Amino acid sequence: MTMVRMNSTIPMTRIHTVKNEKRTPLELYIHVPFCVQKCQYCDFLSGPSDRETRDRYIEALLAEIQAVQGAEAYEIVSVFIGGGTPSVLEAEAIASVMEAVRDRFVFSAEAEITIEANPGTVDPKKLRGYRSAGINRLSLGLQSTDPAELRMLGRIHTYEEFLQSYRQAREAGFDNINIDMMFAIPGQTGEAWRAHLSQVAELKPEHISAYSLIIEEGTPFAERELDLPDEDTEYQMYEDTAAVLAEYGYHQYEISNYAREGYACRHNIGYWKRTEYLGLGLGASSLYRGERFSNTRDMQEYLGFSADAERIRKEVMKLSRNDQIEEFMYLGLRMTEGISEKQFEQNFGEQLENIYGPVLQKYKEIGFLEKSGDHWRFTRKGIHVSNHILAEFLLEE
Ligand code: SF4
Repeated sequence: MTMVRMNSTIPMTRIHTVKNEKRTPLELYIHVPFCVQKCQYCDFLSGPSDRETRDRYIEALLAEIQAVQGAEAYEIVSVFIGGGTPSVLEAEAIASVMEAVRDRFVFSAEAEITIEANPGTVDPKKLRGYRSAGINRLSLGLQSTDPAELRMLGRIHTYEEFLQSYRQAREAGFDNINIDMMFAIPGQTGEAWRAHLSQVAELKPEHISAYSLIIEEGTPFAERELDLPDEDTEYQMYEDTAAVLAEYGYHQYEISNYAREGYACRHNIGYWKRTEYLGLGLGASSLYRGERFSNTRDMQEYLGFSADAERIRKEVMKLSRNDQIEEFMYLGLRMTEGISEKQFEQNFGEQLENIYGPVLQKYKEIGFLEKSGDHWRFTRKGIHVSNHILAEFLLEE
């Protein structure tokens, strides 16, 4: 078996910060493509794995991190370890990855460091190990509180197992927890969804993400006859999500994300505001040093050549000014605060009005966009057709 460079003891958090130096903020995304089993609806780059592959993968990740060029210019403001199910990895593996990124990059003292975990794959020791490795935010994939829905989705855990993991996380010191929920599940009624949401909000997590089920091609769900809620029911479920969570003190700050005061996910916000980010690991995408690219999705290529950026980075693209403007609109309008005219002008040296005046006015008149102070944003009605509207922000080269 390939040996992984790991510490026998879990290192305590090492934060080295450099003050008085102007560094560019950078977010890191670290992909862990392993899951216990594949969920019925999932088309993410993930799947079951054996111990040897996991060990080799960590080795490859460490090699990729050590070989990163240009790290000196940046300060890490957030890290997101996502998947897949990163919590299939032992705390020692996560600690070795965190140690490598801390060796390579300067970290902001306030960096938000999240790991995704699935109930049933963590225990008190592992959770304490994550905390010692400097992880300060946990994102738990629950999706539903209903046993039949969990089985239908192909989730590996029960609601009781989730409750146990949640309790253990609190005991381990996690004071910033997200819970992922899913609506428009086959057979689900609006009443059931509202009840699931309330049940979860009663637990007082700091953050809740709520996405509707999307049937993706190539997944087992795409091959089945499913009793999906109709469009009107799904519309109402979305509206109810914001209403129910508001009763519990959650503020909707993005199309699918809700947080208690002060707990909006900084990693997500950075992404929507176009902070640069570097993706590490299989298939991870980046916006780094003015280029957009994605790592290879071929595991063998990644394992063999992870230290060779030229070899593993695919679809490398320098962004044109128009690409950047489109991204500013696409990503910024996902947030409920919308986009700032002033910020647009600062970024692109031109007034928003000059480029998008007619389209903004058109959708304002029909009630899908609104202006509040310096910000343009979707109305509640507009959020439901946001994908169609955003297509109109494409520019000709
Ligand atoms: S746990 Fe998440 S990443 Fe893994 S198969 Fe299920 S939905 Fe996909």
